[in-house]
Amino acid sequence: MAINRIMVIGAGQMGGGIAQVAAQSGLQVVLNDLKPEFIDRGLAVIAKNLSRSVEKERITAAEKEAILGRIVPSTDLADAAAVDFVVEAASENMEIKSGIFRALDKAARPGVILATNTSSLPITEVAAVTSRAGSVIGMHFMNPVPVMPLVEVIRGIATTDATFAAVDALAKAMGKTPVEVNDAPGFISNRVLLPMINEAIFCVYEGVATPEAVDQVMKLGMNHPMGPLTLADFIGLDTCLAIMEVLHEGFADSKYRPCPLLRKMVKAGWLGKKSGKGFFEYA
Ligand code: NAD
Repeated sequence: MAINRIMVIGAGQMGGGIAQVAAQSGLQVVLNDLKPEFIDRGLAVIAKNLSRSVEKERITAAEKEAILGRIVPSTDLADAAAVDFVVEAASENMEIKSGIFRALDKAARPGVILATNTSSLPITEVAAVTSRAGSVIGMHFMNPVPVMPLVEVIRGIATTDATFAAVDALAKAMGKTPVEVNDAPGFISNRVLLPMINEAIFCVYEGVATPEAVDQVMKLGMNHPMGPLTLADFIGLDTCLAIMEVLHEGFADSKYRPCPLLRKMVKAGWLGKKSGKGFFEYA
């Protein structure tokens, strides 16, 4: 099935980025969220990103308008009936994702691929709530989507070769580099990254060093472009905690226990850049 019109569920950090990149690559995009104001917020971020590209002369003002014109808002999952492909980027919560996938399975035409951008939840479990497990797959973009080249393409136990090939091709058409991964807690990216971030948080929790010092060590000593605590703030501390919980539960291994300081900060509403405060402050 040719993929010309896609639906993106969730207009947050990731969904907005996916919608932008898809529209930039010429696809028609239906951008869905719970409330119109959430979509407006997502569209405003996309418009700001595109304006920056116009200023840097990467695209023209006319191209910016054309890209924005390819994105239409939706607050109804039934709109999936009119698209050729769906990628879900709603909050990292199995109950939320299961509800969305049940509704999408009913609404989307048979054969339409349903992908999830989950950071860590089992693709196989998401697929199991649908009647089309062979057409369900992980399509894990990195943050910020317009900048990062990687897409982990994750096969659930039932994902067909045709589904994999279609998503592999779509990622390439969106200018990304897909890497094939099998379904396991945290896939590759977050299984390796999040324990490092969690350990950095333990260093602060145990008073080994300040957040500034932890980040400086990893930037200057390990050549990381961004320290792990700044990166945690950018990912969102709630998302970081959710991923650690998945690793902890999925592997049943105490080495993945989330740091108590991470839990405390999430309870305080200190979610990182998106809430204005995490390990660092944001205007
Ligand atoms: P976010 O909080 O910025 O955005 C989530 C959006 O989903 C919100 O706008 C929310 O209103 C919407 N939403 C919630 N329930 C919904 C529903 N039932 N229907 C439609 N929309 C709904 O979160 P995010 O950082 O964009 O993360 C989204 C997904 O992408 C998560 O699964 C996350 O794990 C994954 N992810 C995040 C990152 C990252 O760095 N933040 C990277 C890769 C993948």
